[in-house]
Amino acid sequence: MMCPHCEEEVHEAEPSGWIVPLGNTPAYSHLDGTGLCPEMTAEGYRPAQPVLATSE
Ligand SMILES: [Zn+2]
Repeated sequence: MMCPHCEEEVHEAEPSGWIVPLGNTPAYSHLDGTGLCPEMTAEGYRPAQPVLATSE
């Protein structure tokens, strides 16, 4: 899986130091432990949902 915005690989782990009080803690994080890049949704900026990595 990868982040759709920066195309960095992600792993299935909560971001370290996640402090956003709204919504659920994201289930995925960048390999360096940060949350996925935010994107604008109907609920405001939320971490992106990971997409399948395309490796060629
Ligand atoms: Zn990203």
